[in-house]
Amino acid sequence: MKIIKEYVKNKKEEIFNLVKNLDIEIKLVIIQVNNDPASDAYIRGKLKDLNEVGIKGELIKLEVNTTQDELLKLINKLNNDSTVTGFIVQMPLPKHIDEELIKRSISPDKDVDGFNVLSKFNPATPNGIVTYLKDNNYHFESKNALVIGRSNIVGRPMAEMLLKENMNVTILHSYTKKEDLKFYVEHANLIIVAVGKPHFLTNDFKFNEDTIIFDVGINRINGKLVGDCDENLNVKFQSPVPGGVGLLTRLSLILNLLEVYNNGI
Ligand code: NAD
Repeated sequence: MKIIKEYVKNKKEEIFNLVKNLDIEIKLVIIQVNNDPASDAYIRGKLKDLNEVGIKGELIKLEVNTTQDELLKLINKLNNDSTVTGFIVQMPLPKHIDEELIKRSISPDKDVDGFNVLSKFNPATPNGIVTYLKDNNYHFESKNALVIGRSNIVGRPMAEMLLKENMNVTILHSYTKKEDLKFYVEHANLIIVAVGKPHFLTNDFKFNEDTIIFDVGINRINGKLVGDCDENLNVKFQSPVPGGVGLLTRLSLILNLLEVYNNGI
């Protein structure tokens, strides 16, 4: 497996060279309806990535008291704006706005976050992981994949994507018993951990020697960013935190935008 930081850097250079020769502008609009510092940081990261590859990024920051109707009107406008390649609505939204309704109202053609159930795009995190594995010529077929966590943005779509690659997929969740977790970990070739608990996987578990782990978790311990896994697990490859799945997730957004462009939308 390539070092993720280098892989993403190379991919971005490739995309930059591709984008600079296009005769049309690719543009992403980000709608933000919160004053959440974590969202500010994610948005800054996304805009920086876009800038690096020559894609235009525009932030529309709305007041937190924006009504649901006003937001829906803006979404409708962007759905119909041919100069906008794709757009995303940064979560979380204020309580008076129905998140599911908002997700459903984004045109599936422009939903580069993969939020709409009808979206043509896979959610960014699973898509980033699968793209990376494919670019590393990973052989998926008939291997055992273990997805820990069943959220709508990571665990479930992750399992679905691995199933499409003909893996044997198991999903575990908060009701899974510890002894069963041990059993499945021991039999897995590929493990995706998206739980949100530090030290969830440690070297107390027995791993397959060919096991590859993607650590999706983001946790803070005394200001330090850590994943769900201890560092240096006895496995063939483990994605680091930071500098791992987060980078692949960010790259995935750009890849989805290019796909919208390629589809001529
Ligand atoms: P979530 O809270 O929606 O889901 C957590 C899942 O973990 C749940 O499905 C739950 O059933 C499962 N779980 C909890 N305790 C468990 C246990 N003891 N055994 C097995 N499963 C258990 O979270 P999410 O949105 O899927 O995110 C998970 C983590 O990944 C968080 O730390 C989040 O910050 C991080 N995240 C990172 C990225 C990235 O780009 N790196 C993207 C999305 C989420």
